[in-house]
Amino acid sequence: MMKIDQMRVIEEEILHLKKSPLYEYRTTNGYFPVTGEGSVDARIMFVGEAPGRNEAKTGKPFCGAAGKVLDKLLDHVKLNRDSIYITNIVKDRPPENRDPTVKEIEIYGPFLDRQIEIIKPQVIVALGRYAMGYIMKKFDLEDQLGPIGKAHGKAYPSKTSYGKADIITLYHPCMAVYNPKNLDMLKKDMEILRKYI
Ligand code: URA
Repeated sequence: MMKIDQMRVIEEEILHLKKSPLYEYRTTNGYFPVTGEGSVDARIMFVGEAPGRNEAKTGKPFCGAAGKVLDKLLDHVKLNRDSIYITNIVKDRPPENRDPTVKEIEIYGPFLDRQIEIIKPQVIVALGRYAMGYIMKKFDLEDQLGPIGKAHGKAYPSKTSYGKADIITLYHPCMAVYNPKNLDMLKKDMEILRKYI
């Protein structure tokens, strides 16, 4: 099956994921799942936490305030959204943008695992502590796992089923939504991507 079709299968499964604790909240609000967006051949894949309101309304990842920050960061290293893939661990919006639960991460994590297997990115960028925790555990980097305040802007070489990949841990872009003064620091951290572009 072509990569794009494999991705559609995932989309379809998530759409009908009645066992998710977020399914009813999605359907009663007329929200969409946010599976991910971008190139299925991307060398660089970005993984956020969970969709917010704008994302759930449109089905597109990072299209609200945090998305505007992400666009500035991408622009800073001259990356564009068409050449990368952007997704989240949790594919449905948690009510009131609360943190995702362990159960939610358990339910949606396997979809992210499959997306990684389809895309086979050489670089996986974890945005924020939830994505960092999930990705680092997945790639056996748990012993190097520390607080995001220390890990931000770092690269961790790792091994995947398809070969080597670097895991990059960044602060979540919402850091600059709460305080625009953080934007310069996020831009500096983002520069670590230059060596992969
Ligand atoms: N925050 C995230 O983690 N993901 C999105 O898609 C939007 C905001």
